[in-house]
Amino acid sequence: MRKKLVVGNWKMHGSRASNAALLSGLREAGPWNADVAVCVPFPYITETALALTGQAMSFGAQDCSAHEQGAYTGEVSAAMLADVGCRYVIVGHSERRAFHHESDQLVADKAKAALAHGVTPIVCVGETRAEREAGQTEAVVKRQLAAVIHTLTHCIGEIVLAYEPVWAIGTGLTASPEEAQAVHAVLRMQLHAATQKSDAMRILYGGSVKPDNAVSLFGQPDIDGGLIGGAALKAADFSAICRAA
Ligand code: 13P
Repeated sequence: MRKKLVVGNWKMHGSRASNAALLSGLREAGPWNADVAVCVPFPYITETALALTGQAMSFGAQDCSAHEQGAYTGEVSAAMLADVGCRYVIVGHSERRAFHHESDQLVADKAKAALAHGVTPIVCVGETRAEREAGQTEAVVKRQLAAVIHTLTHCIGEIVLAYEPVWAIGTGLTASPEEAQAVHAVLRMQLHAATQKSDAMRILYGGSVKPDNAVSLFGQPDIDGGLIGGAALKAADFSAICRAA
């Protein structure tokens, strides 16, 4: 009943030339049965929008401000993302939580700002290796999601959730399909307690998803697609993952 969603997170990669080549490769490879989107660096959003005109693929950004507008040098508001046509924005990626010290509450506030402007937040949660080894995986992801549930209240059903174990990001280590499913089931239960829409909500898995492990991950009952980093930079790999969904 849930349509799969595959989102490419380009992170801080690309150039006008390489993006054009990647997007044209994806245009040729699609369309797919799954919903597909790319989240690109801010300077390239408008060109991506042009390149995807008339395509089923959608696009978005990798972060937004929690503020509406004002004297926040270097920040980009959710209203601006909506203005240039973004469908999605990633919030709370572990790289931002770690390198920019983003708190659970700030991530929740960003998700709220996005929704207020009709941009769907893709909210990332996930534990570090040390937290997993200490048996804290469930507690960590539940704490991260709880802040978002508390802040969004009745709008929580409108988000996309992404489980990204930090130790699996860019490392080539993937959570096994069973390990990932176990966490997704926990998250689904937490959503279930908060909204009647939980069964319709998409929970993506991210962390070293590649063409050869995508089928088994996406085959799990509570894994509704993927948030793809490295493999989203190659048209052949990303389209193979989209096909797997
Ligand atoms: P990798 O697919 O490169 O592990 O990155 C995952 C990720 O962080 C997507 O947001």
